[in-house]
Amino acid sequence: MSKRKIVIIGAGYGGMLTTVQLQKIIPEGTAEIVLINRNQYHYLTTLLHETAAGTREDEKVCIDIRSLIDPRKVTFIEDNVIDIEKEKQQVILQNGEPISYDYLVIGLGFEPATFGIPGLKEHSLSIRSVKTAREIRLKIEEAFARYAVQPNREHPLTFVVGGGGFTGVEFVAELAERCYDLCEFHKIPYEQVRVICVEAGPGVLPGFPPALVEYAMKSLSSQGVEFRIGTAIKEVTPGRVKLAKGDQMDEVIADVIIWTGGVQGCELIGRCDFDNLRGRIKVEKDLRAPGFNNIFAVGDSALIMDEANGRPYPPTAQFAVQEAFVCAKNILASIQGQPLVPFVPDNKGSVASIGQHDAIGVVFGKQIQGVPAVFMNRMIDNRYLFFLGGLPLVMKKGRIPF
Ligand code: FAD
Ligand code: NAD
Repeated sequence: MSKRKIVIIGAGYGGMLTTVQLQKIIPEGTAEIVLINRNQYHYLTTLLHETAAGTREDEKVCIDIRSLIDPRKVTFIEDNVIDIEKEKQQVILQNGEPISYDYLVIGLGFEPATFGIPGLKEHSLSIRSVKTAREIRLKIEEAFARYAVQPNREHPLTFVVGGGGFTGVEFVAELAERCYDLCEFHKIPYEQVRVICVEAGPGVLPGFPPALVEYAMKSLSSQGVEFRIGTAIKEVTPGRVKLAKGDQMDEVIADVIIWTGGVQGCELIGRCDFDNLRGRIKVEKDLRAPGFNNIFAVGDSALIMDEANGRPYPPTAQFAVQEAFVCAKNILASIQGQPLVPFVPDNKGSVASIGQHDAIGVVFGKQIQGVPAVFMNRMIDNRYLFFLGGLPLVMKKGRIPF
């Protein structure tokens, strides 16, 4: 049998782990594996709210891709994928030559969804990558530095976070902690800083048990975070956010506006005409794109319906990791002419950090908060690092769970 060429695009949770699994399970001489990613590092997206606020350094969430791959089995190309030519079975890169494939794995992740809200794209920032998180951190620091030299201006130093889902609440908690440090550094009284979390729905952390939501809100309110619940961002202009609560309109002057109001799949997927919903391919049970025997999608690039409620499973790292194992297994099965296995999501729950030393969660159906939740959160991160690079990577990038 001639050597097959497997190309993986995007080295996020889904793409990176599929690559690592493939290099473990593909028998020698069976296939050539090529991983293409726009950066030379893999990053832990689930910790970007911390780098965005400045409570964690960039290096702690980045892992050199070359340190995770075996160069005898995997070729890494640092480039931006700009097109997928399905008929020619090749991907088009921004800088390099087209790369042909026998099998393609799409793991391009998510982009912020702005729902056509006027001015949002232009005048707010989103937590999307290490680079955008760094941009947010710098804007926060610049805003403090500017305020420190003109403290008598009419409005307080104001940060508006739009969207009170998991990302919004986790970010706001880090931001509140960081503001304390920056206030101390710049000798600004904390009362002169406003951190506002705007949530359109009837409460933050939709779908989470009310007792845990109350716990998080109480903790954050005591740190000065203001919640504007049932209030939607309607428009953003430079330094201003228009809000609506029912018929009531309001405008807030803001130094930095951070949008955490939702995500969608990658624009490239829609452009390449896959059967998709907002950039997420409606994959078959075995993770293949409809109509293609040799194209798989994982992570936020894949859309899988939860038959119990008729809604898509949420785009999470938890599912991206589970999909990676099945995707690698199915590619090997396909090469060997064996039957493919279905992906069966196993929702183990979720944990949200509330700053550096607190968290809430529902794990295996049990509600947890405080120290046990912090412990669990860190164990989840460490477990992922173990899958990727074994104990050495856990020791290097992991966190002590207590
Ligand atoms: P990503 O992790 O987004 O990776 C995509 C990769 O593709 C990136 O490396 C990117 O650079 C690369 N790429 C994109 N486009 C191109 C291109 N055109 N060419 C080349 N390379 C490209 N989920 C959880 O389960 N638990 C959590 O605690 C959690 N916390 C989160 C916290 C935050 C702040 C955020 C924003 C999300 C969180 N999520 C969490 C959701 C989770 O991070 C995503 O579901 C997960 O990252 C999806 O993995 P992925 O592999 O699909 O994509
Ligand atoms: P989300 O879609 O889950 O939440 C967005 C929130 O923004 C919603 O509550 C929505 O009502 C609100 N919103 C939308 N439009 C608005 C508007 N105009 N004005 C004000 N509020 C508005 O998005 P997310 O929080 O970025 O999460 C994305 C995915 O990542 C989800 O699947 C989530 O589960 C996952 N995630 C998980 C964790 C974790 O497990 N700890 C952390 C972060 C993200």
